[in-house]
Amino acid sequence: MSVLVTGGAGYIGSHMTHALLDRGDDVVVIDNLATGVRALVAERAIFVHGNAGDADLVGKVLKEHKVNAVIHFAGSVVVPDSVSDPLAYYGNNTQTSRNLIDACIKAGVDRFVFSSTAAVYGMPEVMPVVEASPTVPINPYGRSKLMTEWMLEDAARAHDFRYVALRYFNVAGADPKGRTGQSTPRATHLIKRACQAALGRVEALDIFGTDYPTKDGTGVRDYIHVSDLANAHVHALDHLEMGGEALTLNCGYGHGFSVREVVDTVSRVVGARVPTREVPRRAGDPAAVVADPTRLKQLFQWQPKHDNLDEIVKSAFAWERRLNSP
Ligand code: UDP
Repeated sequence: MSVLVTGGAGYIGSHMTHALLDRGDDVVVIDNLATGVRALVAERAIFVHGNAGDADLVGKVLKEHKVNAVIHFAGSVVVPDSVSDPLAYYGNNTQTSRNLIDACIKAGVDRFVFSSTAAVYGMPEVMPVVEASPTVPINPYGRSKLMTEWMLEDAARAHDFRYVALRYFNVAGADPKGRTGQSTPRATHLIKRACQAALGRVEALDIFGTDYPTKDGTGVRDYIHVSDLANAHVHALDHLEMGGEALTLNCGYGHGFSVREVVDTVSRVVGARVPTREVPRRAGDPAAVVADPTRLKQLFQWQPKHDNLDEIVKSAFAWERRLNSP
């Protein structure tokens, strides 16, 4: 199968590219390298430097490489940036997706996998979160992704076009073979920051809030290994190839860890203290967000291989140590 991966130079996209090549697919990556890193694109992938929202360029790529399916990762992911510059997010996420979907429909490419997010649920009240939970995003990032889900739904109703939207919970870890990992310089994610703190690259890890109604007062999240997440996309492609219907699915393991549990795991696994500093809650952070992944497991027979926090941390730390190492 020939697959176009938008944002293939980014964190999840670069893992996806390896997963596809590993199973024998042909891959074309399109990435504008705004946050992506060229060196993370697998050598065997064809690389096109450009915008996923450039319909003319995408139209040419789809035809030239006889693309059968598109996996769309390209976009912006920093929640506070989406609050300060919402129109940039509606442009880079929603508008780009609109143009890309349009180009697919015009080129007759009818299979589309979309990188969505648990942020579409906002502050979920019932745990674990099922796909039918209310979608009430609380920031422009979540709204820009939800709007894309709506466009997909409408486009699939009107055209010969099918999609799977995957709502990611907390993606973490790195390729077990060490080929790629999270390389964004300004990353704010907990496991990456904790690894940086253990390496002495940041002074201390801020613990955002210790008064949540959770097991130890700190925030609880469902951390999913990036390779298991990439594998869910492979199942989504197979589902669409077999003529499967449009789907929206949660991607998580179904259990959560608190910030303190993550910090303790990082300390133990890497054998170094993680200096911490307790600070007030970060605005907009829910107490706990844990997925109900039942539908993903049942519909795709998806079986995670790395559902183990130690393993997630080990791979994240191995990657972090390699970054900027002399
Ligand atoms: N967190 C923290 N310190 C950090 C980064 C994150 O205490 O430096 C907490 C955050 O409040 C949340 C959890 O760790 O409870 C996961 O946050 P992250 O930013 O990794 O992902 P999010 O769930 O916000 O998408």
